[in-house]
Amino acid sequence: MQTKSDDLQVLCEWARDLGKTYAFLDFHVHPYDVLSEDTRYKPDPLIDGLFSRGLFKYHPPALETGSDGLPDKSQSVSDNQRAFILSSRFTYNHTGPKVFADQIELVGLAGVMLLPVARTSGKAEEMLEVSRLMFLRDGRLLPGCAFPVGVQPDQLAGFFKGARDVNGIRAIKLHPNLAGINPLTQVGQDLIHASLAAAGDLNLPMIVHAGRTPCIEPVDSREFGTMTRLALVDWGISAAPVILAHAGCYSLTLAESNEALLILDSLLEKHSNLMVDVSNLEPPIIRLVLEKISPDRLIFGSDALYIPIWKAWIRFLKALQMVSAHPDDDLIRIASLNPAQCLSLTDKSARISL
Ligand SMILES: [Zn+2]
Repeated sequence: MQTKSDDLQVLCEWARDLGKTYAFLDFHVHPYDVLSEDTRYKPDPLIDGLFSRGLFKYHPPALETGSDGLPDKSQSVSDNQRAFILSSRFTYNHTGPKVFADQIELVGLAGVMLLPVARTSGKAEEMLEVSRLMFLRDGRLLPGCAFPVGVQPDQLAGFFKGARDVNGIRAIKLHPNLAGINPLTQVGQDLIHASLAAAGDLNLPMIVHAGRTPCIEPVDSREFGTMTRLALVDWGISAAPVILAHAGCYSLTLAESNEALLILDSLLEKHSNLMVDVSNLEPPIIRLVLEKISPDRLIFGSDALYIPIWKAWIRFLKALQMVSAHPDDDLIRIASLNPAQCLSLTDKSARISL
């Protein structure tokens, strides 16, 4: 009889084998803690590519058996706001190219999209600069750009163009809840629509947090990214792909997820440029998403470091094996061909040169 650890190895080997021909990408990784926005790291004097805050020892990731049923830090809705913020911060005691290289090499992924999130004015600009110095040396770590809080709609095109020309950004990250952008208001809609127009002109994919964010203030902002509000946005303004993260179900119950997926489905029908990522969802919800949404519209993402990449990858592989009639084809599509298409990479059939 196979043990759980054998199952894990078998799943990993299955994907690692296909990964020799197809470059698998993780399209949803955060280089810094999204709640504290802290980018003050020091390079480790002994370990190349490791950047640290405080004196905590760095532990490289390892496959752990038996932990898959446990809730993840970002998804465990705690009433204790302080504990939630501390836990989020603690997850990011270390960052840097070494941290993400260790994460992808453990499971044989080819690269990640780094998505910084800014909550206050000036932070997106600072993150572009810190990331250029910290991550640019490793071509597997693709730079994304946070939505810049405080920049007016008519200035956004110039901002993103500069970020592409100077920092080589490959995607834009919009987090309505953390950036305080409410799609119910005209101001919020103007900011989102201007970002979409810029993303389309620059042919950059935009990744949008979709779902709830527990514990943040003001309370109303926790719901800015829920599907009922995102449905008010004209996503077709950008001709480039727009990826609604977490399949619109972040921090939702199974019943709430069912409702969110109905709205998501109608949006996918309406806007051909919309895609969906499966990042940081509990196993029953990933299965639901795989059952309800065509693999042509799905993209793999983890939401690391809030969940280790290996764990998100195993959850995804396991769900595919349970739900899909063609797990090989769907894996290749969701984790390699679709992300390549979002990045406008031409060689979609084989290895992606990042
Ligand atoms: Zn995220």
